[in-house]
Amino acid sequence: MQAPFGMSRSVNENNDLAFTDPLTGLGNHRRFFDKVDRLISDRADDPAPFAVGILDLDGFKPINDLFGYRAGDDILIQVGMRLRAAMDGQATVARIGADEFAFLYPMVFSEEAATEKAKMLIEILSAPYDVGERTARLSASVGCSLFYSGDETTEILLSKAETALYQAKRSGRGRVVVYTREMEEAAKRVTRIEQALRRAVSAGEVEPHFQPIVDLKTRKTIGFETLARWTDPDLGLVSPAVFIPIAEERGIIGPLSQLVLRKATEAARSWPQDLFLSFNLSPSQLVDQNTGLHILAILKRTGFDPRRLEIEITETGLMTDPASAEKIVSDLRRCGIRVSLDDFGTGQSSLGRLREFHFDKLKIDRAFVSSILEDRPSEHIIRAILAMCEGLGMDVVAEGIEEEAQAKRLIEFGCAGGQGYLFGKPADADATLGYLRDSFRGASRVGAL
Ligand code: C2E
Ligand code: MG
Ligand code: MG
Repeated sequence: MQAPFGMSRSVNENNDLAFTDPLTGLGNHRRFFDKVDRLISDRADDPAPFAVGILDLDGFKPINDLFGYRAGDDILIQVGMRLRAAMDGQATVARIGADEFAFLYPMVFSEEAATEKAKMLIEILSAPYDVGERTARLSASVGCSLFYSGDETTEILLSKAETALYQAKRSGRGRVVVYTREMEEAAKRVTRIEQALRRAVSAGEVEPHFQPIVDLKTRKTIGFETLARWTDPDLGLVSPAVFIPIAEERGIIGPLSQLVLRKATEAARSWPQDLFLSFNLSPSQLVDQNTGLHILAILKRTGFDPRRLEIEITETGLMTDPASAEKIVSDLRRCGIRVSLDDFGTGQSSLGRLREFHFDKLKIDRAFVSSILEDRPSEHIIRAILAMCEGLGMDVVAEGIEEEAQAKRLIEFGCAGGQGYLFGKPADADATLGYLRDSFRGASRVGAL
Protein backbone atom coordinates (compact mmCIF):
# COMPACT_ATOMS: atom_id res chain seq x y z
CA MET A 1 0.00 0.00 0.00
CA GLN A 2 1.19 3.46 -0.75
CA ALA A 3 1.85 5.81 2.10
CA PRO A 4 -0.40 8.88 2.23
CA PHE A 5 0.83 11.71 0.10
CA GLY A 6 3.83 13.48 1.56
CA MET A 7 4.34 11.16 4.55
CA SER A 8 7.16 8.96 3.33
CA ARG A 9 8.58 11.27 0.71
CA SER A 10 11.71 13.24 1.33
CA VAL A 11 11.62 17.02 1.45
CA ASN A 12 13.43 17.01 -1.89
CA GLU A 13 10.82 14.82 -3.51
CA ASN A 14 8.02 17.05 -2.25
CA ASN A 15 9.78 20.10 -3.54
CA ASP A 16 10.15 18.34 -6.82
CA LEU A 17 6.42 17.64 -6.97
CA ALA A 18 5.61 21.27 -6.35
CA PHE A 19 7.71 22.13 -9.39
CA THR A 20 6.50 19.33 -11.68
CA ASP A 21 3.51 19.10 -13.98
CA PRO A 22 1.84 15.81 -12.97
CA LEU A 23 0.48 15.02 -16.43
CA THR A 24 3.60 15.36 -18.57
CA GLY A 25 6.32 15.10 -15.95
CA LEU A 26 7.82 18.33 -17.30
CA GLY A 27 8.66 21.23 -15.06
CA ASN A 28 5.73 23.54 -14.27
CA HIS A 29 5.27 27.29 -14.25
CA ARG A 30 7.17 27.68 -10.95
CA ARG A 31 10.15 25.66 -12.13
CA PHE A 32 10.32 27.64 -15.33
CA PHE A 33 10.24 30.99 -13.55
CA ASP A 34 12.89 29.73 -11.18
CA LYS A 35 15.22 28.74 -14.02
CA VAL A 36 14.81 32.03 -15.85
CA ASP A 37 15.34 33.97 -12.58
CA ARG A 38 18.56 32.06 -12.02
CA LEU A 39 19.80 32.57 -15.55
CA ILE A 40 19.11 36.32 -15.30
CA SER A 41 21.24 36.57 -12.16
CA ASP A 42 23.98 34.42 -13.77
CA ARG A 43 24.04 36.80 -16.71
CA ALA A 44 24.30 39.90 -14.53
CA ASP A 45 28.02 40.17 -15.23
CA ASP A 46 28.04 38.45 -18.60
CA PRO A 47 25.65 40.32 -20.87
CA ALA A 48 25.11 37.52 -23.42
CA PRO A 49 21.49 37.42 -24.59
CA PHE A 50 19.26 34.36 -24.28
CA ALA A 51 15.81 33.40 -25.59
CA VAL A 52 12.53 32.35 -24.03
CA GLY A 53 9.39 31.31 -25.86
CA ILE A 54 5.80 30.35 -25.21
CA LEU A 55 4.27 27.69 -27.40
CA ASP A 56 0.51 27.32 -27.62
CA LEU A 57 -1.25 24.44 -29.39
CA ASP A 58 -3.64 25.67 -32.09
CA GLY A 59 -7.19 24.39 -31.90
CA PHE A 60 -6.62 22.08 -28.95
CA LYS A 61 -10.15 22.54 -27.63
CA PRO A 62 -11.84 20.99 -30.69
CA ILE A 63 -9.53 17.97 -30.24
CA ASN A 64 -10.74 17.58 -26.69
CA ASP A 65 -14.34 17.90 -27.86
CA LEU A 66 -13.86 15.47 -30.73
CA PHE A 67 -11.76 12.75 -29.10
CA GLY A 68 -12.59 13.24 -25.40
CA TYR A 69 -10.51 14.51 -22.47
CA ARG A 70 -8.62 11.23 -22.04
CA ALA A 71 -7.35 11.44 -25.59
CA GLY A 72 -6.61 15.14 -25.05
CA ASP A 73 -4.44 14.20 -22.05
CA ASP A 74 -2.68 11.51 -24.12
CA ILE A 75 -1.85 14.04 -26.77
CA LEU A 76 -0.49 16.48 -24.19
CA ILE A 77 1.76 13.71 -22.83
CA GLN A 78 3.04 13.00 -26.35
CA VAL A 79 3.60 16.71 -26.97
CA GLY A 80 5.57 16.87 -23.71
CA MET A 81 7.75 13.93 -24.74
CA ARG A 82 8.46 15.36 -28.17
CA LEU A 83 9.38 18.76 -26.77
CA ARG A 84 11.62 17.26 -24.10
CA ALA A 85 13.41 15.16 -26.72
CA ALA A 86 13.95 18.28 -28.82
CA MET A 87 15.74 20.21 -26.08
CA ASP A 88 19.48 20.23 -26.69
CA GLY A 89 22.33 21.32 -24.45
CA GLN A 90 21.08 23.48 -21.62
CA ALA A 91 17.66 24.14 -23.11
CA THR A 92 14.58 23.49 -20.95
CA VAL A 93 10.88 23.09 -21.58
CA ALA A 94 8.02 23.35 -19.09
CA ARG A 95 4.24 23.11 -19.20
CA ILE A 96 2.84 26.42 -17.99
CA GLY A 97 -0.85 26.15 -18.92
CA ALA A 98 -3.43 23.68 -20.21
CA ASP A 99 -2.03 23.65 -23.74
CA GLU A 100 0.82 26.11 -23.20
CA PHE A 101 4.48 25.23 -22.96
CA ALA A 102 7.44 27.49 -22.29
CA PHE A 103 11.01 26.97 -23.36
CA LEU A 104 14.31 28.52 -22.43
CA TYR A 105 17.33 28.55 -24.72
CA PRO A 106 20.33 29.89 -22.75
CA MET A 107 22.63 29.62 -25.78
CA VAL A 108 20.40 31.31 -28.37
CA PHE A 109 21.66 34.82 -28.90
CA SER A 110 19.67 36.25 -31.81
CA GLU A 111 16.11 36.68 -33.04
CA GLU A 112 16.90 34.61 -36.15
CA ALA A 113 18.24 31.71 -34.09
CA ALA A 114 15.20 31.85 -31.77
CA THR A 115 12.88 31.74 -34.79
CA GLU A 116 14.76 28.74 -36.18
CA LYS A 117 14.46 26.85 -32.90
CA ALA A 118 10.75 27.65 -32.57
CA LYS A 119 10.06 26.57 -36.16
CA MET A 120 11.77 23.29 -35.47
CA LEU A 121 9.52 22.71 -32.43
CA ILE A 122 6.40 23.44 -34.51
CA GLU A 123 7.65 21.00 -37.14
CA ILE A 124 8.22 18.28 -34.56
CA LEU A 125 4.72 18.75 -33.17
CA SER A 126 3.10 18.60 -36.59
CA ALA A 127 3.63 14.84 -37.06
CA PRO A 128 0.41 12.83 -36.41
CA TYR A 129 -0.55 11.70 -32.88
CA ASP A 130 -1.93 8.27 -32.07
CA VAL A 131 -5.28 8.44 -30.34
CA GLY A 132 -6.45 4.84 -29.95
CA GLU A 133 -7.37 3.65 -33.43
CA ARG A 134 -7.27 7.11 -34.89
CA THR A 135 -4.68 9.78 -35.47
CA ALA A 136 -4.88 13.49 -34.83
CA ARG A 137 -2.84 16.37 -36.12
CA LEU A 138 -1.92 19.57 -34.34
CA SER A 139 -0.20 22.81 -35.11
CA ALA A 140 1.30 25.26 -32.67
CA SER A 141 2.05 28.98 -32.49
CA VAL A 142 5.07 30.43 -30.72
CA GLY A 143 5.94 33.84 -29.30
CA CYS A 144 9.58 34.49 -28.35
CA SER A 145 11.46 37.24 -26.59
CA LEU A 146 15.15 37.82 -26.04
CA PHE A 147 16.89 38.89 -22.86
CA TYR A 148 19.33 41.69 -23.59
CA SER A 149 19.91 43.61 -20.40
CA GLY A 150 19.99 43.22 -16.66
CA ASP A 151 16.95 45.51 -16.31
CA GLU A 152 14.55 42.86 -17.46
CA THR A 153 12.78 40.54 -15.05
CA THR A 154 11.37 37.10 -15.77
CA GLU A 155 7.84 38.56 -15.67
CA ILE A 156 8.69 41.20 -18.26
CA LEU A 157 10.44 38.70 -20.50
CA LEU A 158 7.50 36.31 -20.43
CA SER A 159 4.92 39.01 -20.89
CA LYS A 160 6.81 40.09 -24.02
CA ALA A 161 6.76 36.50 -25.26
CA GLU A 162 3.02 36.47 -24.50
CA THR A 163 2.50 39.64 -26.59
CA ALA A 164 4.44 38.02 -29.45
CA LEU A 165 2.38 34.84 -29.10
CA TYR A 166 -0.80 36.88 -29.30
CA GLN A 167 0.44 38.38 -32.58
CA ALA A 168 1.38 34.94 -33.88
CA LYS A 169 -2.11 33.60 -33.09
CA ARG A 170 -3.76 36.57 -34.74
CA SER A 171 -1.84 36.08 -37.95
CA GLY A 172 -2.87 32.44 -38.37
CA ARG A 173 -1.83 28.99 -37.31
CA GLY A 174 1.67 27.58 -37.03
CA ARG A 175 3.44 30.96 -36.86
CA VAL A 176 6.45 32.20 -34.91
CA VAL A 177 6.71 35.82 -33.84
CA VAL A 178 9.64 37.36 -31.97
CA TYR A 179 8.84 40.33 -29.76
CA THR A 180 9.88 43.76 -31.03
CA ARG A 181 9.66 47.32 -29.71
CA GLU A 182 7.07 48.25 -32.37
CA MET A 183 4.88 45.48 -31.05
CA GLU A 184 4.89 47.11 -27.65
CA GLU A 185 3.94 50.45 -29.22
CA ALA A 186 1.13 48.76 -31.16
CA ALA A 187 -0.11 46.98 -28.03
CA LYS A 188 -0.14 50.31 -26.14
CA ARG A 189 -2.09 51.97 -28.94
CA VAL A 190 -4.68 49.19 -28.93
CA THR A 191 -5.11 49.60 -25.17
CA ARG A 192 -5.53 53.35 -25.59
CA ILE A 193 -8.18 52.87 -28.26
CA GLU A 194 -9.92 50.24 -26.14
CA GLN A 195 -10.15 52.58 -23.15
CA ALA A 196 -11.37 55.51 -25.23
CA LEU A 197 -13.92 53.28 -26.98
CA ARG A 198 -15.31 51.94 -23.70
CA ARG A 199 -15.88 55.49 -22.55
CA ALA A 200 -17.43 56.52 -25.88
CA VAL A 201 -19.83 53.57 -25.88
CA SER A 202 -21.06 54.27 -22.36
CA ALA A 203 -21.44 57.96 -23.22
CA GLY A 204 -23.40 57.00 -26.36
CA GLU A 205 -20.88 58.66 -28.68
CA VAL A 206 -20.69 56.13 -31.52
CA GLU A 207 -22.95 57.20 -34.39
CA PRO A 208 -24.58 55.30 -37.24
CA HIS A 209 -23.91 56.55 -40.76
CA PHE A 210 -25.92 55.29 -43.71
CA GLN A 211 -24.84 54.36 -47.23
CA PRO A 212 -27.48 53.97 -49.95
CA ILE A 213 -28.03 50.64 -51.72
CA VAL A 214 -29.67 51.11 -55.10
CA ASP A 215 -31.47 49.26 -57.85
CA LEU A 216 -28.76 49.38 -60.50
CA LYS A 217 -31.14 49.81 -63.45
CA THR A 218 -33.47 52.49 -62.09
CA ARG A 219 -30.91 53.96 -59.66
CA LYS A 220 -33.65 54.16 -57.03
CA THR A 221 -32.52 53.78 -53.44
CA ILE A 222 -33.90 50.55 -51.99
CA GLY A 223 -32.23 50.61 -48.60
CA PHE A 224 -29.23 51.71 -46.54
CA GLU A 225 -26.32 49.96 -44.87
CA THR A 226 -25.57 51.15 -41.34
CA LEU A 227 -21.86 51.85 -40.74
CA ALA A 228 -20.55 52.80 -37.30
CA ARG A 229 -18.59 56.06 -36.99
CA TRP A 230 -16.57 57.25 -34.01
CA THR A 231 -14.59 60.44 -33.39
CA ASP A 232 -12.63 60.60 -30.16
CA PRO A 233 -11.69 64.05 -28.76
CA ASP A 234 -7.99 63.03 -28.58
CA LEU A 235 -7.58 60.29 -31.18
CA GLY A 236 -9.73 62.01 -33.81
CA LEU A 237 -11.72 59.99 -36.35
CA VAL A 238 -11.00 56.29 -35.89
CA SER A 239 -11.90 53.96 -38.78
CA PRO A 240 -14.27 51.05 -38.07
CA ALA A 241 -11.66 48.83 -39.73
CA VAL A 242 -9.56 49.67 -36.62
CA PHE A 243 -12.08 49.94 -33.78
CA ILE A 244 -14.46 47.09 -34.71
CA PRO A 245 -11.75 44.38 -34.43
CA ILE A 246 -10.62 45.91 -31.11
CA ALA A 247 -14.22 46.01 -29.87
CA GLU A 248 -14.53 42.34 -30.80
CA GLU A 249 -11.32 41.26 -29.16
CA ARG A 250 -11.86 43.21 -25.96
CA GLY A 251 -15.52 42.32 -25.49
CA ILE A 252 -17.06 45.74 -26.29
CA ILE A 253 -18.81 44.72 -29.51
CA GLY A 254 -22.12 43.79 -27.82
CA PRO A 255 -22.83 47.17 -26.19
CA LEU A 256 -21.38 49.05 -29.19
CA SER A 257 -23.61 47.19 -31.58
CA GLN A 258 -26.69 47.75 -29.45
CA LEU A 259 -25.99 51.47 -29.26
CA VAL A 260 -25.55 51.80 -33.03
CA LEU A 261 -28.61 49.66 -33.81
CA ARG A 262 -30.78 51.66 -31.43
CA LYS A 263 -29.72 54.98 -32.95
CA ALA A 264 -30.00 53.63 -36.50
CA THR A 265 -33.51 52.25 -36.09
CA GLU A 266 -34.63 55.46 -34.37
CA ALA A 267 -33.40 57.40 -37.40
CA ALA A 268 -34.75 54.99 -40.02
CA ARG A 269 -38.18 54.64 -38.40
CA SER A 270 -39.51 57.71 -40.21
CA TRP A 271 -38.04 56.87 -43.63
CA PRO A 272 -40.36 55.55 -46.38
CA GLN A 273 -41.53 52.16 -45.20
CA ASP A 274 -40.32 50.30 -48.30
CA LEU A 275 -36.67 51.13 -47.54
CA PHE A 276 -34.73 48.47 -45.68
CA LEU A 277 -31.95 49.03 -43.20
CA SER A 278 -29.02 46.67 -43.10
CA PHE A 279 -26.76 46.18 -40.13
CA ASN A 280 -23.43 44.34 -39.71
CA LEU A 281 -22.99 41.64 -37.09
CA SER A 282 -19.49 40.64 -35.99
CA PRO A 283 -18.30 37.02 -35.84
CA SER A 284 -18.16 37.05 -32.03
CA GLN A 285 -21.84 38.07 -31.90
CA LEU A 286 -22.77 34.88 -33.70
CA VAL A 287 -21.31 32.84 -30.87
CA ASP A 288 -23.38 34.68 -28.23
CA GLN A 289 -26.92 33.30 -27.96
CA ASN A 290 -28.14 36.59 -26.45
CA THR A 291 -27.51 38.47 -29.69
CA GLY A 292 -30.92 37.66 -31.18
CA LEU A 293 -32.74 38.70 -27.99
CA HIS A 294 -30.87 42.00 -27.83
CA ILE A 295 -31.71 42.82 -31.45
CA LEU A 296 -35.40 42.01 -31.00
CA ALA A 297 -35.58 44.00 -27.75
CA ILE A 298 -34.15 47.07 -29.51
CA LEU A 299 -36.58 46.75 -32.43
CA LYS A 300 -39.45 46.52 -29.98
CA ARG A 301 -38.27 49.55 -28.05
CA THR A 302 -37.76 51.73 -31.11
CA GLY A 303 -40.88 50.41 -32.88
CA PHE A 304 -38.92 49.38 -35.97
CA ASP A 305 -40.54 46.72 -38.15
CA PRO A 306 -38.26 43.62 -38.16
CA ARG A 307 -39.24 42.96 -41.79
CA ARG A 308 -37.36 46.13 -42.72
CA LEU A 309 -34.14 44.96 -41.09
CA GLU A 310 -31.38 42.94 -42.73
CA ILE A 311 -28.34 41.66 -40.93
CA GLU A 312 -25.04 41.23 -42.72
CA ILE A 313 -22.74 38.44 -41.64
CA THR A 314 -19.48 37.16 -43.07
CA GLU A 315 -18.28 33.65 -43.70
CA THR A 316 -15.75 34.01 -40.89
CA GLY A 317 -18.71 34.62 -38.60
CA LEU A 318 -20.19 31.28 -39.54
CA MET A 319 -17.00 29.31 -39.08
CA THR A 320 -16.24 29.72 -35.38
CA ASP A 321 -19.32 27.90 -34.18
CA PRO A 322 -21.64 26.99 -37.07
CA ALA A 323 -24.32 25.46 -34.84
CA SER A 324 -24.59 28.60 -32.71
CA ALA A 325 -24.62 30.88 -35.78
CA GLU A 326 -27.29 28.74 -37.39
CA LYS A 327 -29.53 29.03 -34.33
CA ILE A 328 -29.17 32.82 -34.07
CA VAL A 329 -29.76 33.26 -37.79
CA SER A 330 -32.82 31.04 -37.93
CA ASP A 331 -34.34 32.72 -34.84
CA LEU A 332 -33.93 36.12 -36.50
CA ARG A 333 -35.34 34.91 -39.81
CA ARG A 334 -38.41 33.56 -38.00
CA CYS A 335 -39.08 37.11 -36.81
CA GLY A 336 -38.96 38.43 -40.37
CA ILE A 337 -35.38 39.75 -40.34
CA ARG A 338 -33.51 39.06 -43.58
CA VAL A 339 -29.95 37.78 -43.64
CA SER A 340 -27.20 38.69 -46.12
CA LEU A 341 -23.80 37.15 -46.63
CA ASP A 342 -21.32 40.07 -46.65
CA ASP A 343 -17.93 40.41 -48.39
CA PHE A 344 -18.54 37.27 -50.43
CA GLY A 345 -15.47 35.86 -52.11
CA THR A 346 -12.78 37.22 -49.78
CA GLY A 347 -12.80 34.99 -46.72
CA GLN A 348 -12.54 31.25 -46.67
CA SER A 349 -15.48 30.82 -49.01
CA SER A 350 -17.17 27.50 -48.96
CA LEU A 351 -19.99 26.75 -51.33
CA GLY A 352 -21.09 24.02 -48.94
CA ARG A 353 -22.05 26.73 -46.49
CA LEU A 354 -24.53 28.14 -48.97
CA ARG A 355 -26.30 24.80 -48.84
CA GLU A 356 -26.34 24.57 -45.07
CA PHE A 357 -27.44 28.15 -44.39
CA HIS A 358 -30.22 29.99 -46.01
CA PHE A 359 -29.34 33.53 -47.02
CA ASP A 360 -31.72 36.06 -48.50
CA LYS A 361 -28.98 38.09 -50.12
CA LEU A 362 -25.34 37.96 -51.06
CA LYS A 363 -22.98 40.93 -51.24
CA ILE A 364 -20.15 40.62 -53.76
CA ASP A 365 -16.95 42.01 -52.26
CA ARG A 366 -15.45 45.26 -53.48
CA ALA A 367 -12.24 43.43 -54.47
CA PHE A 368 -14.03 41.83 -57.45
CA VAL A 369 -15.98 44.93 -58.40
CA SER A 370 -12.91 47.17 -58.44
CA SER A 371 -11.13 44.89 -60.91
CA ILE A 372 -14.11 43.98 -63.06
CA LEU A 373 -13.03 46.23 -65.95
CA GLU A 374 -9.41 45.11 -66.16
CA ASP A 375 -9.41 41.61 -64.95
CA ARG A 376 -10.95 38.63 -66.79
CA PRO A 377 -10.94 36.27 -63.79
CA SER A 378 -12.94 38.81 -61.71
CA GLU A 379 -15.46 39.06 -64.51
CA HIS A 380 -15.87 35.29 -64.64
CA ILE A 381 -16.14 35.02 -60.88
CA ILE A 382 -18.85 37.69 -60.75
CA ARG A 383 -20.80 35.96 -63.54
CA ALA A 384 -20.55 32.64 -61.72
CA ILE A 385 -21.71 34.21 -58.43
CA LEU A 386 -24.68 35.82 -60.18
CA ALA A 387 -25.71 32.54 -61.83
CA MET A 388 -25.42 30.75 -58.51
CA CYS A 389 -27.54 33.35 -56.70
CA GLU A 390 -30.22 33.11 -59.33
CA GLY A 391 -30.32 29.35 -58.94
CA LEU A 392 -30.49 29.60 -55.15
CA GLY A 393 -33.10 32.38 -55.20
CA MET A 394 -30.86 34.96 -53.49
CA ASP A 395 -30.77 38.70 -54.14
CA VAL A 396 -27.38 40.20 -55.01
CA VAL A 397 -25.71 43.51 -54.22
CA ALA A 398 -22.31 44.43 -55.66
CA GLU A 399 -20.25 46.48 -53.18
CA GLY A 400 -17.79 49.31 -53.74
CA ILE A 401 -18.99 50.57 -57.14
CA GLU A 402 -17.06 53.77 -57.86
CA GLU A 403 -17.36 54.18 -61.63
CA GLU A 404 -20.22 54.32 -64.07
CA ALA A 405 -18.48 51.75 -66.33
CA GLN A 406 -18.42 49.23 -63.47
CA ALA A 407 -22.16 49.74 -62.88
CA LYS A 408 -22.86 49.27 -66.60
CA ARG A 409 -20.87 46.04 -66.77
CA LEU A 410 -22.66 44.70 -63.68
CA ILE A 411 -26.05 45.46 -65.24
CA GLU A 412 -24.99 43.60 -68.40
CA PHE A 413 -24.17 40.58 -66.27
CA GLY A 414 -27.60 40.75 -64.63
CA CYS A 415 -26.67 42.15 -61.21
CA ALA A 416 -29.69 43.92 -59.71
CA GLY A 417 -28.35 45.74 -56.63
CA GLY A 418 -25.40 48.06 -56.11
CA GLN A 419 -23.66 50.07 -53.40
CA GLY A 420 -20.66 52.36 -53.60
CA TYR A 421 -19.33 55.90 -53.72
CA LEU A 422 -20.86 56.28 -57.21
CA PHE A 423 -24.31 56.34 -55.62
CA GLY A 424 -23.45 57.85 -52.27
CA LYS A 425 -20.90 57.81 -49.46
CA PRO A 426 -21.96 56.92 -45.93
CA ALA A 427 -23.61 59.98 -44.31
CA ASP A 428 -25.05 60.78 -40.88
CA ALA A 429 -28.75 60.62 -39.99
CA ASP A 430 -29.49 64.30 -40.78
CA ALA A 431 -27.71 64.24 -44.14
CA THR A 432 -29.46 60.98 -45.01
CA LEU A 433 -32.84 62.52 -44.27
CA GLY A 434 -31.92 65.45 -46.55
CA TYR A 435 -30.84 62.99 -49.25
CA LEU A 436 -34.15 61.14 -48.99
CA ARG A 437 -36.16 64.39 -49.16
CA ASP A 438 -34.28 65.37 -52.33
CA SER A 439 -34.50 62.00 -54.04
CA PHE A 440 -38.15 61.40 -53.24
CA ARG A 441 -39.43 64.93 -53.76
CA GLY A 442 -42.64 64.67 -55.72
CA ALA A 443 -42.91 60.94 -55.15
CA SER A 444 -45.62 59.65 -52.85
CA ARG A 445 -43.04 58.22 -50.46
CA VAL A 446 -42.01 61.72 -49.36
CA GLY A 447 -45.18 62.06 -47.32
CA ALA A 448 -43.65 59.91 -44.64
CA LEU A 449 -40.66 62.21 -44.16
P1 C2E B 1 -18.54 46.31 -44.85
O1 C2E B 1 -19.71 45.81 -44.07
O2 C2E B 1 -18.12 45.48 -46.01
O3 C2E B 1 -18.91 47.78 -45.29
C1 C2E B 1 -18.56 48.34 -46.52
C2 C2E B 1 -17.33 49.18 -46.39
O4 C2E B 1 -16.93 49.63 -47.68
C3 C2E B 1 -17.57 50.47 -45.57
O5 C2E B 1 -16.33 50.76 -44.94
C4 C2E B 1 -17.87 51.48 -46.65
O6 C2E B 1 -17.63 52.79 -46.23
C5 C2E B 1 -16.88 51.04 -47.72
N1 C2E B 1 -17.32 51.44 -49.06
C6 C2E B 1 -18.56 51.52 -49.56
N2 C2E B 1 -18.55 51.91 -50.85
C7 C2E B 1 -17.26 52.06 -51.19
C8 C2E B 1 -16.60 52.46 -52.42
O7 C2E B 1 -17.20 52.73 -53.44
N3 C2E B 1 -15.26 52.48 -52.40
C9 C2E B 1 -14.53 52.18 -51.28
N4 C2E B 1 -13.22 52.26 -51.34
N5 C2E B 1 -15.12 51.83 -50.12
C10 C2E B 1 -16.47 51.76 -50.09
P2 C2E B 1 -16.27 51.21 -43.41
O8 C2E B 1 -17.43 52.09 -43.08
O9 C2E B 1 -14.90 51.72 -43.19
O10 C2E B 1 -16.49 49.86 -42.63
C11 C2E B 1 -15.55 48.86 -42.66
C12 C2E B 1 -16.08 47.59 -42.08
O11 C2E B 1 -16.29 47.72 -40.67
C13 C2E B 1 -17.44 47.17 -42.64
O12 C2E B 1 -17.27 46.50 -43.87
C14 C2E B 1 -17.96 46.27 -41.54
O13 C2E B 1 -17.44 44.97 -41.68
C15 C2E B 1 -17.37 46.89 -40.30
N6 C2E B 1 -18.41 47.68 -39.60
C16 C2E B 1 -18.79 48.98 -39.81
N7 C2E B 1 -19.77 49.31 -38.96
C17 C2E B 1 -20.04 48.22 -38.21
C18 C2E B 1 -20.97 47.92 -37.14
O14 C2E B 1 -21.81 48.75 -36.72
N8 C2E B 1 -20.92 46.67 -36.59
C19 C2E B 1 -20.04 45.73 -37.05
N9 C2E B 1 -20.05 44.55 -36.47
N10 C2E B 1 -19.15 45.96 -38.05
C20 C2E B 1 -19.17 47.19 -38.62
MG1 MG C 1 -21.45 45.18 -44.54
MG1 MG D 1 -19.07 44.31 -47.23
